[in-house]
Amino acid sequence: MIGGGIAGTATALELQRANAAIEVTLFERATHVGGRIASSPFAGISGLDAGADAFLARVPEAVALAESLDLDLVSPEPVGAAIWRNGLHPIPEGLLLGLPGRPWPLVRSPLLSWRGTVRAAIEPLVPRTSIAPDSVGAYVRARFGDEVHEVLVDSLVGSIYAADTDRFSLAEVPQLHQLANTRRSVLLASRFGTAGRPGTATATAGPIFAAPRGGMADLVTATADAVVTGGGEVRLGRSIQQVAADGSGWRVDDERFDAVILASPPQASASMLVDTAPDASALLARAEAADVVMVVLHIPRSAWPERLHGLSGYLIPKSEQRTLTAVSFGSQKWAHWQPAGGGVILRASLGRDGAPVSHLDNDTVLARTLDDLAHQLGIDPTPLDVRITRWPGAFAQYRPHHQRWVEAVEAALPAGIGVTGAGYRGIGIPACVRDAKRMVNRTVQSFEALS
Ligand SMILES: Cc1cc2nc3c(=O)[nH]c(=O)nc-3n(C[C@H](O)[C@H](O)[C@H](O)COP(=O)(O)OP(=O)(O)OC[C@H]3O[C@@H](n4cnc5c(N)ncnc54)[C@H](O)[C@@H]3O)c2cc1C
Repeated sequence: MIGGGIAGTATALELQRANAAIEVTLFERATHVGGRIASSPFAGISGLDAGADAFLARVPEAVALAESLDLDLVSPEPVGAAIWRNGLHPIPEGLLLGLPGRPWPLVRSPLLSWRGTVRAAIEPLVPRTSIAPDSVGAYVRARFGDEVHEVLVDSLVGSIYAADTDRFSLAEVPQLHQLANTRRSVLLASRFGTAGRPGTATATAGPIFAAPRGGMADLVTATADAVVTGGGEVRLGRSIQQVAADGSGWRVDDERFDAVILASPPQASASMLVDTAPDASALLARAEAADVVMVVLHIPRSAWPERLHGLSGYLIPKSEQRTLTAVSFGSQKWAHWQPAGGGVILRASLGRDGAPVSHLDNDTVLARTLDDLAHQLGIDPTPLDVRITRWPGAFAQYRPHHQRWVEAVEAALPAGIGVTGAGYRGIGIPACVRDAKRMVNRTVQSFEALS
C-alpha cells in the first residue's frame, strides 16, 4: 500500500480482514497517517479538525468502519445552515443538494428573485432533460433555470466539493444523478411521492452525518493501529519514488511485493509509475484538483451576537463570493466544540475550482477572512486564537465523464497494480472506504487465482 490517508489505511485493514495470510505493508510520506484528514488541539478542544469534520452516515461504510474500531461517534446538532445573499437566509426546506422538491419554500424565501422562482416552478412543463452532457450545471440550469442552479445547487454541491458545478460530473453526485436518470420532472416526482425525490433526505431516520468524538483523525489512526495489531506494517516518513516491475511482482523503491495498491493522490501516483506504466501515468497526470485553505478562529463570546445563534453556518454563492466560500459555526454545529475558556469556534473555507488561494500569505488569508466576516455577518472580532491550514489538491475535480477516465486508467494499469482513493470513485470519506472494499475484493481474487 502507498498512501496513509483514509483510503490507504482502510484498504490495508480490509485486506487483512479479508485474508489474514496476506502480509500488508503501508508506506506513508508524512510522519503521521491521515492525509487530508487532520485533527489537533485548539482552544482547549483536544481534536479540532483542520480538514473534514464529519462523514455521511447514510452511506454506511465509514460508520461501519468506525464502529468496528469501537470509536465513539457523535452527530452534529440539529441546527440548519444558511445561504448568504445580501444577508443570511435559511436554506429553504425540502431541497436535495439544492434541488427543490416543492415550489412553496422557494416562494417564501427571499433567496431567489420572483423571476427565478417562477422559472423554477414551471419545471414540470420542461421536456425530459438529456443527461448526456454529464454536467451538474447543464442539468439543473435546463430544468430549474440559472438562479436555482447558481444560488442553491452550486452553493451546496459546489461547497461540498470546492467545485465549479458547470464542470462537474452529474454521474458523480449519485442522488442528483439517480433523479435525473429516472424521472422527467423533479417536482412531479416529489409531488407524487416517487422514491429518491428531494425533500425526503432529512425525513429518513437517523443522523445524516457522524464523526468520532475525538476528531476525524481518530478514524485514520485507529484504522492504521488495527493494521499493525493485525500483523501489518505501517512505515511513516517513507516517500515512495518509484514502482517498478520485478519478475512476477513489483518493486516499491528497493523492496519487492506481489501486488501494489496506490492510495496516493493521482498526481503523486503518476510520478511513481512514469517508467513502469507510462500510459497509466500520463492519464493519472491529467487529474485536476482544487486547493483549499481552512481558517479556524476562536473568537470571544462577546463578539458573537444572539442573532447568529441556532445556525450551523452558511454558504456563499459564487456571485456573492469575495474570498470565503463557506463558514461553519463550529461551536453551534458540534456540542463538544466548546472552548475551555469560553468563546466560539468558527471554521472558514477559502478556495475552490477557479478561485485559487494558495498564493495568499497567512496575513492576507486572515485579513480577508475577517473582512468577509465583517461584511457578511456584521461582526468585527479580534480572534483569541487562529489556525490556518493549507490543503493543496484538497478536492479532486470530477469533470464530466469522469468515469471514462477512471476506466481508462484502470485499463492502462498492469495486473498487480491498483489505484484507489478520492481521485477515482467518490471524494467523500465513506466513498473512499467503499472503494477500499472493492479494491480488496479484486486483489484477493487475483491472489486466489494465482494460488
Ligand atoms: C478541508 C477539507 C474538508 C473536507 N471535508 C470533508 C467532509 O466533511 N466529509 C468528507 O467525507 N470528506 C471531506 N473532505 C474530503 C476527504 O477528507 C478526502 O477526500 C479524503 O480524506 C481523501 O482520502 P485519500 O486517502 O484518498 O487521500 P489522502 O488523504 O490525500 O491520502 C493520500 C496519502 O498519500 C500520501 N502520499 C502521497 N505521495 C506519497 C508518496 N510518494 N509516498 C508515500 N505516501 C504518499 C500522502 O501523504 C497522503 O497521506 C474534506 C477535505 C478537505 C481538504
